[in-house]
Amino acid sequence: MIDFLIVGHGLAGATLAHLLLERGQRIMVLDKKLPHCASQVAAGLVNPLIGPKFNIPERMEDCLTQSMDFFGSIGEESGQTIYRELVLHRIFGSEKQRDLWVEKTKMPAFGQFAQSIKTSKDCEKLGFEAPLGAGVQRANRLDFPLFLKLSEDKLRQSGCWQDGAFEETDWTEARKIVFCEGYRVLENPWFGYLPFAPAQGEILLMSNGPCVAGSNGTWVLPENQNKCLAGATWKHEDIESGPTESGKNKILKDLPLRLNGEPEIIEHRSGIRPSTRDRAPILGIHRENERMLLFNGFGSRGASTVPFYAKHMLNLMIDGVSLPEEADLKRFK
Ligand SMILES: Cc1cc2nc3c(=O)[nH]c(=O)nc-3n(C[C@H](O)[C@H](O)[C@H](O)COP(=O)(O)OP(=O)(O)OC[C@H]3O[C@@H](n4cnc5c(N)ncnc54)[C@H](O)[C@@H]3O)c2cc1C
Repeated sequence: MIDFLIVGHGLAGATLAHLLLERGQRIMVLDKKLPHCASQVAAGLVNPLIGPKFNIPERMEDCLTQSMDFFGSIGEESGQTIYRELVLHRIFGSEKQRDLWVEKTKMPAFGQFAQSIKTSKDCEKLGFEAPLGAGVQRANRLDFPLFLKLSEDKLRQSGCWQDGAFEETDWTEARKIVFCEGYRVLENPWFGYLPFAPAQGEILLMSNGPCVAGSNGTWVLPENQNKCLAGATWKHEDIESGPTESGKNKILKDLPLRLNGEPEIIEHRSGIRPSTRDRAPILGIHRENERMLLFNGFGSRGASTVPFYAKHMLNLMIDGVSLPEEADLKRFK
């Protein structure tokens, strides 16, 4: 008999699995490596200042602490760095936006992330097209591929891994089943009714990128060997299209870079974010079937939010402690 079967080994399932093992639970993780998995394409940016208004989402500080602790300890265990600090240049799109940045730096909560302002000339030297300059901020980056690889290796070595898709009849011996299926929750007979709003996203791996990170809404992140990642697009329709010509052209058109000629595209990837209509995760226990649990809805910010909510999910699963209201599936009548 196992305590928990975890269905899905994306960021959500992998994180929960490790915390459960730490608490001495008997678990099994099941994954079919289905296409469109968000965690396989995510850039791993952890950005506390969101959108054109640089808003700090609720619970950000706690989320950052938990991400740092969790991914830091997994990295330490393996002797590899999977979570690192990053300096991000927020390229201003208008004078109003630059004024907002200056105004906000007077607030301590904002000031802890915002560092300085770079002029248009400074930005040019870094390879950015930024006529109004850029705000420089602290951010972080999670190496998704490395984390998932380390996690899978460890689960396999511990005999806690099984390849395949979930079939209820195969798992009568599991005490509880936790679904971490990403956007495929839409097909789940217990939880598919919840207000998920998956969004497809595309990114490009390109040559000759800048050696620092920048964003004007479209971000560019340096990768090894003089490459960079750029993205991402966002669409709610035709989400299983895979990479598209229009997605690629949109990223290239919006790039904040000073380009000398056409960049060489090395790879073009897409995935589907498990977003929700109210933009908060959806977790908890099924109302009528206590054996079925859900840990999902991390949208476009899984690297920031998954460890924080995984801790709360663990407290619910093992100690029966209530979830934060904003994430509890009970909020939907
Ligand atoms: C283009 C793009 C860029 C992104 N960039 C960032 C970023 O910079 N920073 C950030 O924080 N987030 C980013 N995200 C979002 C991030 O990817 C998600 O928040 C996170 O990966 C969600 O993880 P998940 O485990 O919930 O879902 P997924 O990663 O989709 O994982 C679901 C897993 O479940 C498995 N599965 C599903 N159903 C079954 C079944 N029935 N049986 C067996 N296995 C099953 C699938 O094979 C898959 O492995 C990005 C997403 C996209 C698409």
